[in-house]
Amino acid sequence: MSGYLCTTCGKQHEELPMCFGPRAPDLWYSIPEAEREERGELSSDQCVIDGKYFFVLGRILIPVVDGPGPFIWLAWVSLSEANVLRTCELWESEGRETEPPYFGWLQNALPYEPTTLNLKIQLQTMPLGERPNIVLEKTTHPLSVEQRLGIKMARVQKIAEAALHGEVDAQPFHREDVSG
Ligand SMILES: [Zn+2]
Repeated sequence: MSGYLCTTCGKQHEELPMCFGPRAPDLWYSIPEAEREERGELSSDQCVIDGKYFFVLGRILIPVVDGPGPFIWLAWVSLSEANVLRTCELWESEGRETEPPYFGWLQNALPYEPTTLNLKIQLQTMPLGERPNIVLEKTTHPLSVEQRLGIKMARVQKIAEAALHGEVDAQPFHREDVSG
């Protein structure tokens, strides 16, 4: 991607990132920092809190209708313990993408109104080396609508400006992190 003129700070930024996301489920941030190590475990792919809340990191792909896409939110979803165990079991398995989707709940408040926290999702296992895809329940929620209908580059730039200038809690990811 080439650069863009930022309407937030007025400067030319070198690259328009196409992927953003929080580094942990929102529940993680609600735990006092001093207690996190004792109560939970956070890796680049999975998170467990209090031995009973299980999360995995997935991708919300959003088509871009007037430019190179997709735009991607990396976000955390909660799954049942059984499905998390199944995910671990299949982690290194060839052909794991034939697995039926798992039901789950989105566990991040992405910058949308109303909140995206606890939206219903299906998590689709992808081939080895790729993060699972998050498919939102078909509703009139703006994120669900964006996933079905796509967004324009101008919208991507708006999201990027808000994230890069700290107005929303989301960090850019590089392509390598995204395929994961
Ligand atoms: Zn800027």
